Amino acid sequence: MVIIKQKKSALFEDFSLLVGRENVLSTIEERICYACDGTKQKYLPDVVLRPHTTRHVSDVLRYAYKHEIPVYPRGAGSGLTGGAVPLEGGIVLDFTNMNKIAEIIPEDLTATVEPGVVTQTLQSEVAKYKLFYPPDPASAAFSTIGGNVAECSGGITGLKYGVTRDYILSLEVVLADGSIIHTGRKTLKSVTGYDLTRLFVGSEGTLGVFTQITVKLLPLPEKIETLLTFFKTPQEAVKAANQIIANNLLPRALEFIDKSSIDCICKYKQEMQIPAEVNAILLIEVDGKETSVRTELALIEKIVAENHAFKAISAKTVIERETLWEVRRAISPALYKIAPCKINEDICVPRSKILEILQRITDIHKRYPSLHVANFGHIGDGNIHVNIMHQEGSQQHTLAESMIEEILRHTVAVGGTISGEHGIGNVKSKYVPLEIPPGELQIMKDIKHLFDPKRILNPGKMFPD
Ligand SMILES: Cc1cc2nc3c(=O)[nH]c(=O)nc-3n(C[C@H](O)[C@H](O)[C@H](O)COP(=O)(O)OP(=O)(O)OC[C@H]3O[C@@H](n4cnc5c(N)ncnc54)[C@H](O)[C@@H]3O)c2cc1C
Repeated sequence: MVIIKQKKSALFEDFSLLVGRENVLSTIEERICYACDGTKQKYLPDVVLRPHTTRHVSDVLRYAYKHEIPVYPRGAGSGLTGGAVPLEGGIVLDFTNMNKIAEIIPEDLTATVEPGVVTQTLQSEVAKYKLFYPPDPASAAFSTIGGNVAECSGGITGLKYGVTRDYILSLEVVLADGSIIHTGRKTLKSVTGYDLTRLFVGSEGTLGVFTQITVKLLPLPEKIETLLTFFKTPQEAVKAANQIIANNLLPRALEFIDKSSIDCICKYKQEMQIPAEVNAILLIEVDGKETSVRTELALIEKIVAENHAFKAISAKTVIERETLWEVRRAISPALYKIAPCKINEDICVPRSKILEILQRITDIHKRYPSLHVANFGHIGDGNIHVNIMHQEGSQQHTLAESMIEEILRHTVAVGGTISGEHGIGNVKSKYVPLEIPPGELQIMKDIKHLFDPKRILNPGKMFPD
């Protein structure tokens, strides 16, 4: 639905005055590039604006507020739940030009950046000071810090280091009416007033638009070592993962891959040579001081052996590590070879419930034999990516949706959440009431109304209106 009612040429002139003519994209060829994200949805924006400064963003929002035009903030468009998709047309605010690292202060262990900085760029820039920005979504090479903050992205380092939320100290935010606020402090501690920073992290562009972000940093770990382990049963792999943690070990990564994913990888990359009897894989990574890494890895090797891992390959150098991670990275492209449509759920359960939920998924799958299901994920966090591959067509899609709903209901029943890291967007908004009771949902809607009374910020996302 096209929301902008004013004449397009007059709007183009107004937007050119606000952000500069070269930062207004209005042709169909330009706008089509902003119609989708990591999901396969397509909604064409009326215009794309590419701000360079906070002032630009504030002016655009003031204008949009006055004329009640929807505004969709956008980083790299890699979101997996439709967060950046312009459902109701209007303006897409593309942050890729606001990509400067304003400062890195090693004494304070902080960095302040614009939202369009690519996650991996921040990681490698701070590494030059021997500093570490831990949140590490698999999309780090292209996703932006603004998008990561809006989704509270996780990734492979969550077990040991937490998620994006744990590293955001303060935000500059432009509100729906164009006013600019600052939340939090650039200090490692602050308990003055309500924690607005936490409220904005994970708000998916529905409460305000970030224009500057101060993150907390850690010292860069001296050494990283990786271990790829093969198991005959998923039960043994999950038991080994639980015992690693029960032994007071906190790996930097603890990734699980199931048999179905392994079969897909083997078909996709035959050179990988994973033995046929492998039914589950754990990919484990340890970091820290060289001596402690060696000690921890030896203990982990003992634990996986006790749980009948029949092969363990370790990697010490960057190149060797990359080779082991190839197995994990191959999953996504491999799954697309199975069927053209893939739904990637990111349920998260208490770690003690992992085997139970995996068994439930297997049981549910038996009733949907025409769908292909593969599970992998950050088992250390209890975060499992349930992938449902299906053929194009409404009947298959309806089956997949019905299977998803059953899985989400069981996830909530065992104390889990319907999204560990990908967010809700519009793709999962209908499932939110499965997890959030009406009272809490109403509080969230009241907060949304307080920040965005005219409903112009990313409308149609997060919860059903
Ligand atoms: C191959 C692949 C692997 C992935 N792996 C992971 C993973 O391991 N872990 C994980 O958590 N996610 C993962 N993702 C999902 C995705 O990369 C993350 O959600 C990421 O944070 C999105 O960043 P982006 O810059 O692409 O944001 P976009 O997709 O452009 O936007 C995401 C949301 O952020 C909002 N937004 C963007 N910029 C701003 C801003 N300046 N102010 C306010 N709101 C804003 C948008 O409105 C939207 O709601 C993966 C995606 C892909 C394609």
